[in-house]
Amino acid sequence: MSDLLGQVHAAAGPYLESLSARPVQDPDALSLLAELGGPLPASGDPAEVVERLLRIGTAAGTASAGPRFFHFVTGGVTPAALAADWAAALLDQNAFSKISSPFAHEVETVALDWLRQLFGLPASWGGALVASATFANFTSLGCATHWWGFQHGVDTAEDGLTDLPRMPVLSSGYVHASARKALQMLGHGRNSVTVCARDAVGRADLAGMRRHLESLRGAPAVLIANAGEVNAGDFDPVAELADLASEYGCWLHVDGAFGLFAALSPRTEHLVRGIDRADSIAADAHKWLNVPYESGFALVRDQSRLGAAFGMPGAAYLPGPGDPASGYALYGPESSRRARSLPIWATLAAYGRDGHREMVERHLDLARRLAALVDAAPELERLADVPLNIVCFRVAPPGDADLDDLNRRVGAALLRDGRVYAGTTVYDGKVALRPAIVNWRTTEADIDLFVAVVRELAATVGAARS
Ligand SMILES: *Cc1c(COP(=O)(O)O)cnc(C)c1O
Repeated sequence: MSDLLGQVHAAAGPYLESLSARPVQDPDALSLLAELGGPLPASGDPAEVVERLLRIGTAAGTASAGPRFFHFVTGGVTPAALAADWAAALLDQNAFSKISSPFAHEVETVALDWLRQLFGLPASWGGALVASATFANFTSLGCATHWWGFQHGVDTAEDGLTDLPRMPVLSSGYVHASARKALQMLGHGRNSVTVCARDAVGRADLAGMRRHLESLRGAPAVLIANAGEVNAGDFDPVAELADLASEYGCWLHVDGAFGLFAALSPRTEHLVRGIDRADSIAADAHKWLNVPYESGFALVRDQSRLGAAFGMPGAAYLPGPGDPASGYALYGPESSRRARSLPIWATLAAYGRDGHREMVERHLDLARRLAALVDAAPELERLADVPLNIVCFRVAPPGDADLDDLNRRVGAALLRDGRVYAGTTVYDGKVALRPAIVNWRTTEADIDLFVAVVRELAATVGAARS
């Protein structure tokens, strides 16, 4: 076994060193994917198998752990987090309960405590480490559902949603698709969200929300505040939404998948003012904390709500939520689970509050640099302010009659080219690019290259169209 691990170790050094220079995606390497399939082998040679997997993966894998993957919101992996993730695979703990692994249970307890400290939240809050922000939204809105059922005299964990009205959910136009997916998985349906937006960008319409809450005549409701939306990195006014929630007795959930990290810097902490008044907060660790996939977390004010919504009593061989032998499986959606706390614990222990604040601030600076380069380029047009780490802009040469078509083509050309990655969106009705900066490896040179490649491809695409 140690020979096989030696193969991985031998590949790691050259691969990691290549990340700062290699393209995000080498289109020519994708032909290697054909070597993965065929009929299920009757037997195989483990050394050859690992060699093949590493050869194909290091060539055809997407270098999203590298510094120039600006698509979606995709973090890299700090050195301490990567080493700890290897350790998690090595130790193969089942972080189900205190009995299945007292070690994993304790690391998770400390990791959750440090996360609360990192974001300035009280130690009394409960928490769950989950696979992603989608699952953190699911966990949080699962707790909200249980709370809401309780207001109607129903234990939804026991009896489900039968005989209940539809759960009212209000949010701004910034609500993320994954919050809707969470509502869909919880049985409310993704259309349960009433969007109160005052413009085409989706900014919160607080007066509209208040009118809607009035129309509910005291019926309990859930508010979702979006702390960091994906098109331009803007924020709902969390404190104002907290005021509304306390006035109307709502559950306030904050989706802070990446935006929660604004709390780390005095330059941006105002953006998340009021999060300590939320009932639940969802965020990702595999984005701005720079730990490997899969890693998200939910923080919930009333700790007991997690056990009520996600406990699974009833099997004689398993502990129930109140049992001293229980553990985090009874406070979140998964049962058997890997020790995803290890890389979180390690990156926080190794780089600390200061290291993570410095990384966030470096990204804020890089986003400003990117915005300045866009502003200085005559054929580029910035479409939004840059409150955090996303720069929303489009290619807009004078005289071009179909900018949406041009920008869609530039977006596709970027992915085909592979040197840098960014995706398109529609912002305020306009097709735009929205590079997001969350990788600890990204430097000024990477930002400069990104803008240079966009301008080069825009010129090529523009010339081919005319
Ligand atoms: C990325 C993101 C999510 C979903 O996160 P996953 O980790 O992909 O599940 C949810 N909300 C916001 C605001 C996001 O940026």
